[in-house]
Amino acid sequence: AIVSAKQKAAVASKPPQKEKEPPLQPPTQVYEPPSSDRKDGAVYQVGKMLGKGGFAVCYEGQLPGHRKKYALKIVKSKMPSKMEQKFQTELQIHSKMNHPNIVQFLRAFAFDSCTYLVLELCPNGSLMDMVKRRKGLTEPEVRYYSIQIAGAIKYMHAKGIIHRDLKMGNIFLDRNLNAKIGDFGLAALLVTGKDMQTIRRTTLCGTPNYIAPEILEKGKKGHDHMVDIWSLGIIMFAMLTSKPPFQSSTTDEIYRRARNRDYEWPQPGSSNKFISEEAKDIVATMLEDAERRPDPDTIVQHCFFSSGYIPTPREITTKLRDCAPV
Ligand code: ADP
Repeated sequence: AIVSAKQKAAVASKPPQKEKEPPLQPPTQVYEPPSSDRKDGAVYQVGKMLGKGGFAVCYEGQLPGHRKKYALKIVKSKMPSKMEQKFQTELQIHSKMNHPNIVQFLRAFAFDSCTYLVLELCPNGSLMDMVKRRKGLTEPEVRYYSIQIAGAIKYMHAKGIIHRDLKMGNIFLDRNLNAKIGDFGLAALLVTGKDMQTIRRTTLCGTPNYIAPEILEKGKKGHDHMVDIWSLGIIMFAMLTSKPPFQSSTTDEIYRRARNRDYEWPQPGSSNKFISEEAKDIVATMLEDAERRPDPDTIVQHCFFSSGYIPTPREITTKLRDCAPV
């Protein structure tokens, strides 16, 4: 669904047409990338803001005359060189990903000293928002989302990509409330000692809750992709209990607790959430030393997934819709 040059000319010459849908929220602007970037001269109407990240702002975007909405991630072209590098990495990796549980990358273009990424729209916020609102998910829901995320990790690892920044805030929910991994900003860096240093520096600025202990240690090599499995273990714990296992007031304390696997499941009776032994066991295996962590196939074969119900996509959409913003 791209507006052709001819259609574009029509759009430019006609007065603004009455849309079938209600008009987009102000400010409504039309961005027109230079023809060198888009042969077909796509134009996007910019709608409501979806969120702000470390260096990007995200808006809803639509092509005039089309109903389909996208997420427009807008990044200032001039940024400090380190950020520029992070962004280039993100572009290169994300644009090569094609999986039902990874935010689909549609195209990128430059306009008005900004770079625009056109992404699949995930209008239901992040998994973190959902878990906070629901104060934790049920075990069937955790099975559903864990299978989706494990599938996306399997796909990335098969392509030689390590995500390295998996967390509930980076997993978005599409209109049917399926999980979609977004934000590939830390993903592409090749695994050498130097790159691990970069990860260390970068992650020290962000949330430390999901970081595997080996990222903090120098000289551990060969199991780097297992950092994503560690993060999935943290995500599963957080989906079940609504907080990450090593949560503490200082970063040092979080790291210390992670190194020592110092975490506790909520006491039975302390909340009305029942957490099965199977759930506790699978999380424990994912938080083992890197070489002992299960790969995505082994994860989904664990008895946690066969010991109970797995909802259908339809059930997820209907049951969770009440807790979703749209
Ligand atoms: P950064 O890379 O700067 O951290 P993010 O990719 O996290 O930026 O995007 C910033 C915010 O924009 C997110 O927290 C989220 O609220 C929103 N967002 C990002 N991608 C999408 C998307 N595909 N659909 C809907 N909202 C999105």
